[in-house]
Amino acid sequence: METITVKTSSRSQMIDVTDRVQKAVQESGVQDGFVVCFVPHTTAAVTIQENADPDVLHDVLWKLEKLIPQHETAYRHNEGNSDAHLKCSAVGVSQFIPVEGGRLVLGTWQGVYFCEFDGPRTRRLLVQCVGR
Ligand code: ZN
Repeated sequence: METITVKTSSRSQMIDVTDRVQKAVQESGVQDGFVVCFVPHTTAAVTIQENADPDVLHDVLWKLEKLIPQHETAYRHNEGNSDAHLKCSAVGVSQFIPVEGGRLVLGTWQGVYFCEFDGPRTRRLLVQCVGR
């Protein structure tokens, strides 16, 4: 298993980690199989999104903030980051990507994004390559 360290620079952020996941696949030697990307945190996530227009990433984060605001009087969790926990569950902590010929099988416009919801922090993304 490979560990990718992700340093985030703002409270909410989506960081393209596609190249780093691809590098982990190459280092594993797996040619055909799949890769599981897993975020071992409760206020961050991993998703696959468009890699062409950065406005898409803006809109995803903007809408998540609208749907799940940082401040709500009904929140009980006293760390003040209940929204980040909710966004983590909404987006999810794992992604499954096929691997063929040693390459991630992604659509032309797809990239793998680490999602920070309670940064800035230093985070981990675990990459497990399975196959032959
Ligand atoms: Zn918390």
